[in-house]
Amino acid sequence: MVFKGIPVSEGIAIGKAFVYAPFKPKIGERFISAEEVPAHTARFDMTLKKARAELAALQEKLAEDPDKAGIFEAHEDILTDIALVDEILELINDKHYAGESAIETVYEKYENMFAEMDDDLMKERCADFNDVKTRLLRLWIGAAGKNLSEMEEPSVIFAHDLFPSDTATLDRNKALAIVTETGGNTSHSAIIARSYGIPAILGVSGVMGAAADGIIAVADAVEGTVVLRPDAGEFTRYREKQDAYDRDRKETLKYLGVRPVTLDGLRIEVCLNLGSVSDEDLAAAEFTDGVGLFRSEFLFMSGKELPSENQQFQVYKKAVEAYGSRQVILRTLDIGGDKKFESMELPEEDNPFLGCRALRLCFEKTDVFKTQLRAALRASAFGNLALMFPMVGSMEDLYRAKAFLEECRVELRGEGCAFNEKMPVGIMIEIPAIALMPDLVAAEVDFASIGTNDLCQYLMAVDRLNPDVAMYYQNYHPAMFWLINHTAEAFTKAGKPLSICGEMGGDPAALIPFIAMGIKKFSMSASCVAPVKRLITRLTMEEAGHVLGRLRMMNTAPEIEGYLKSSMKRLLKEEAVCIQSER
Ligand code: PEP
Ligand code: MG
Repeated sequence: MVFKGIPVSEGIAIGKAFVYAPFKPKIGERFISAEEVPAHTARFDMTLKKARAELAALQEKLAEDPDKAGIFEAHEDILTDIALVDEILELINDKHYAGESAIETVYEKYENMFAEMDDDLMKERCADFNDVKTRLLRLWIGAAGKNLSEMEEPSVIFAHDLFPSDTATLDRNKALAIVTETGGNTSHSAIIARSYGIPAILGVSGVMGAAADGIIAVADAVEGTVVLRPDAGEFTRYREKQDAYDRDRKETLKYLGVRPVTLDGLRIEVCLNLGSVSDEDLAAAEFTDGVGLFRSEFLFMSGKELPSENQQFQVYKKAVEAYGSRQVILRTLDIGGDKKFESMELPEEDNPFLGCRALRLCFEKTDVFKTQLRAALRASAFGNLALMFPMVGSMEDLYRAKAFLEECRVELRGEGCAFNEKMPVGIMIEIPAIALMPDLVAAEVDFASIGTNDLCQYLMAVDRLNPDVAMYYQNYHPAMFWLINHTAEAFTKAGKPLSICGEMGGDPAALIPFIAMGIKKFSMSASCVAPVKRLITRLTMEEAGHVLGRLRMMNTAPEIEGYLKSSMKRLLKEEAVCIQSER
């Protein structure tokens, strides 16, 4: 059975399927006879024991991550709460509720009670009660547990959708590939898959109806094909393709430590998009010139409470220290859109990508914004930290954000706290309005970075997550190149650094014209570093200029994409044998 989707993180995987479908209980009120009561109370007791054992095992597994382990500790407290247990037993014994109905009734009473409270922290307890209830009901029914962190053997993961919190708990060594029914090239599951180097195909409509645990699945995330239960011929064909792909990937990986210099001597900066400060993520520091985009929101996603100023300070400090004299660009909170989390209640909006997102949300939640700015300023005393504001749509946005930063500087000076008075401040260029007036921006910032993921979404008027309109999300659209060229010209004229940190910044084919436009810094997922360096070492400015010139004569995205990809292939074919290692 063959399905098609959007390949968002390259690679080919063949293995057993793991279908991730979180359990959603449908219970309702059911009553039992008096004779059935003892069986239901005994079954409830057994269910409690099983739930406790599961929670204990999870805590043990996450012992090295106290934040996550703490979540399950809190769940254990709820589970063993005497008042709650008594209420459930009362409903079974006195009112003859079936065990599952009693569990649902009591837990929902508490969920509703917490949901109505004014205090945000109390409201968050609601999700905990829901979680424990779901666990109990699943065990009561005897349904299999589904949790990505519990995946036992290396598998191809199938899901309708994956939320950032799901992917955050993913064991990257066991995920052979990710296949989802929703999402697109720039959704956050795609970004995480790329940074972990896991092949991923998103927007595979209908695949969940056909996938089953344990069947053999092929995920070809080069062409975007998923094959379930391949026949012998298909199996052999994909195995051969996988071997060839892996051989080429091995060749590309030789470029990881290479100095990214074009054949005619232009040094290009190859930086990393960072989503955490785990040792695995910081390992790429060895091969990169800095962090061009530190997505600080990932720090807010792991816990149920907002990170304090000190917690943030420690994380930012760890990142700058890992990079020494190389620059780390910290992006202030970018939530809203597809990024939601438990530690902050966000308004329900019909069009969240056009709503109260990123900087706009920070202007609403000024205490959260200032806490982050203070933590960043304090970390700037320990290395080469720069600050970048996302989703700037007007000069007022920029003035306002800078005014908050100045307020924090004044506070810290008053408290005698050390920070870098000259910490560079820049913005992301991802709203077309701001990309159209780059000279005004360049005069006000120390640097800027183009976020092609959102720039494309807003320029093309296409929801970056909606697979039904994925064909309209054309990052090779001529308008993308001309808008970026317009921005680059103004920054070159002003002598201010401009980089690209959206997913196009890690696309070797797109880099050819960008380099010709004068852009010399690119920031990308770890898995793109080697392919990008490989391309750079094959390029001359003359060649890049020639490609850009040809692009000017092209009218459509497919034409541009085809031309850039064939140019890249041609350059790689002429590859030099000699690889010079820098470090
Ligand atoms: C972008 O929009 O290109 C970007 C880098 O930001 P994010 O993908 O986190 O929105
Ligand atoms: Mg963005």
